[in-house]
Amino acid sequence: MSRTVYVNGEFVAEEAAKISVFDRGFIFADGVYEVSSVIGGKLIDNAAHLARLARSCKALSIDLPASGDEITAIQKELITRNDLDEGVVYLQVTRGAADRDFPFPKVATPSLVMFTQVKTLVASKAAEAGIRVITTPDLRWGRCDIKTVQLLGAVLAKQAAADAGVDDAWFVDAGGDVTEGSSNNAYIVKDGRIITRALSTALLPGITRASVVKLAAETGMTIEERPFTVAEAQGADEAFVTSATTFVTPVIRIDGAKVGAGTPGPVARRLREIYINHALKTAV
Ligand code: PMP
Repeated sequence: MSRTVYVNGEFVAEEAAKISVFDRGFIFADGVYEVSSVIGGKLIDNAAHLARLARSCKALSIDLPASGDEITAIQKELITRNDLDEGVVYLQVTRGAADRDFPFPKVATPSLVMFTQVKTLVASKAAEAGIRVITTPDLRWGRCDIKTVQLLGAVLAKQAAADAGVDDAWFVDAGGDVTEGSSNNAYIVKDGRIITRALSTALLPGITRASVVKLAAETGMTIEERPFTVAEAQGADEAFVTSATTFVTPVIRIDGAKVGAGTPGPVARRLREIYINHALKTAV
């Protein structure tokens, strides 16, 4: 069955949706995006996703073409029209269409596109079994804190993971420290302490990361925000990733080496449970 998608003010069937070939998102990856999860037809951590969208737009001097309330109303309309129970709402804002030239065009209307995707989030096989990751050099640009649609680094990393027969990849910077996962934030657990890299321009300030760090602290868990190496991660008791679509998902092998017992650990399992409870309670 065809989905209804949203393109610049209109709800249309996906086959009928159109974007200009001159759209700067298409030509220059001059755009930003957000992915909000949906459980039971309701949006998870959505206000924080929209706040990050505003921040990303501001960083690139793109005028957000709709207010947060308007965007939320469109997200909800898409959920209703597509009868979405569990999955995601994707939204993308680009600088708009203009003749191809690098500097910002004098006249361009930002474009706003949104669509839904069905995805099993809660009863996830990956979360149950844990995932295997490889590590790969972080070849991305210097502003990974902005959520741009320029995702070739992640595409190549995920393809390398698929070619290696594993689930995902972790980026490693020139100094040998893990920056983050290809589409998630990375953590290790050692002697009961949860370790994750501090926020900077090198990584995306994950919305799930913010919630998980807060919930972990409220539960009395200790969080240490600092870099860690691949060797330290391989020698950790547990490892896991967080993102809007994976919530908290255990990592059981890194470059083939078992993390801890090589099975999902208690801290990751507990955090997943706590996060899903929070998501169900606060969904709108
Ligand atoms: N880092 C990267 C590079 C990502 O692409 C994502 C997911 N978009 C995340 C972290 C996790 O962010 P969030 O929790 O907001 O989904």
